[in-house]
Amino acid sequence: MPDLYVDGEWRVAVAGGRREIRCPADGSLVAEVDEASAEDTTAAVAAAYRAFHEGPWPRTTARERGDLVLRVADLIERDKDVLARMESLDTGKRLVESEYDVDDIVGVFRHYGRIAAEEAGRVVDTGRVDVVSRIVHEPIGVCGLIAPWNYPLLQVSWKVAPCLAAGNTFVLKPSELTPHTSIHLMRLLEEAGLPAGVANLVLGAGPDAGAPLAEDPRVDLVSFTGGLATGRRLMAAAAGTVKKVALELGGKNPNIVFADADLDVALDFALTAVFLHSGQVCSAGARLLVEESVHDAFVDALVERAGRIRLGGPFDERAETGPLTGAAHRDKVEAYVAAGIAEGAVLRCGGRRPDAVERPDLAEGFYYLPTVLDGCRSDMSVTQDESFGPVLTVETFTGEDEAVRIANDSIYGLAGAVWTQDAGKGQRVAARLRMGTVWINDYHPYVPQAEWGGFKQSGTGRELGLAGLDEYRETKHVWHNIRPAEQRWFAG
Ligand code: NAD
Repeated sequence: MPDLYVDGEWRVAVAGGRREIRCPADGSLVAEVDEASAEDTTAAVAAAYRAFHEGPWPRTTARERGDLVLRVADLIERDKDVLARMESLDTGKRLVESEYDVDDIVGVFRHYGRIAAEEAGRVVDTGRVDVVSRIVHEPIGVCGLIAPWNYPLLQVSWKVAPCLAAGNTFVLKPSELTPHTSIHLMRLLEEAGLPAGVANLVLGAGPDAGAPLAEDPRVDLVSFTGGLATGRRLMAAAAGTVKKVALELGGKNPNIVFADADLDVALDFALTAVFLHSGQVCSAGARLLVEESVHDAFVDALVERAGRIRLGGPFDERAETGPLTGAAHRDKVEAYVAAGIAEGAVLRCGGRRPDAVERPDLAEGFYYLPTVLDGCRSDMSVTQDESFGPVLTVETFTGEDEAVRIANDSIYGLAGAVWTQDAGKGQRVAARLRMGTVWINDYHPYVPQAEWGGFKQSGTGRELGLAGLDEYRETKHVWHNIRPAEQRWFAG
């Protein structure tokens, strides 16, 4: 069956392109899929444009759209096992993590299904009894949705659910590395009864299948999640048609441990913060800031535990974390670690691939051992650049002011955490961190009700929460003068 979904039809690529999808855990072939070129994306934009300007979807009520989004949530829940398995094969992540992801995705669709009709607008008091003035929200139009490979369907759900709830049409371009759950989502949208042309799917490389979305004048919004360099490129490309651009980019997120924290608990969470999904998480706590007085004991214990983390493939029930996404990405992580050591960081554990004799079962996958680099400073590339791998840098500080200064010394501002048993200190530090999310005595949780996004070069706009719906709505002021005949200026 063809894999591109355009105007309610499954199609092969116009130029006949195909791509092999391989599992990062062992390099095995998962499947071959159709690979779009710019021509396919342009056809998908045309379909989305027609569906928006001529189709019934934007004129449905918010309640009707909410009901459809809720139906999609039920279908995703029904297909949880198959979706989780697809996600694990495409990403190499543990099956149990993919199952959690699918639960979250159901939650995201349910959230937007429920709030589709909320905050529909308001009446404005103009101070005039002869005027009815209303603020209404309308769909923005045709949306280009571009997603990364680390949480493939989850990142797609943060876009597709509010995009549909608000009444838009879209062209989705998931990562070329992880297409399968997006293909399945299109089948579920079809099954839920979405009209043809509202949802369109193109698969393929960013510069070919994705770039036209930023340039095409018929696209009103580009919502992108991915790396900083791509985000900058898209923003520049979108400037030509002054379209709205929402960017969810990278992070280099500080995890701040004060001496008065519950250090045992902070240690467990510090490991999860950075080594979950082998660090391929935008909000990974990859930058550990430890108060100087507890540095030695805390880091010794952390290194000991990190050295015991078990790597393994999606279906290894004893695995604690999995592979990197591919050879090129692992090369990047290796170069990043080498640069850190050259700049003076001290390698405390990891810093290499697993031993092929000890773990022959990992030999064909793209694994890299959990790595801790101690003795880092904020002027090193290793503390400034996103590695997107299982690499923790350690810096020390003394007192709140220094912790905040080091934590904010970054071009990024996505997320961070503070560990302390002093509630006042936790709140004071949280208030001074220039980040879109701050956890106090926790790491990583999020809920669809709460906004997610970055300060500084971690992005523009917000996903999730009510703001995540507003990204997909235009705001219109409707002014109705009910006694115009009494107010003529040039009445002759
Ligand atoms: P990437 O920028 O390489 O690719 C992201 C998407 O953009 C892919 O679909 C890719 O094909 C597409 N793309 C690439 N070049 C393009 C172009 N010229 N025009 C249009 N589309 C193009 O990022 P990635 O490696 O897939 O993902 C990892 C990055 O994503 C990390 O930096 C991570 O921090 C970030 N991320 C951020 C969040 C967040 O919520 N802020 C969430 C997940 C991932």
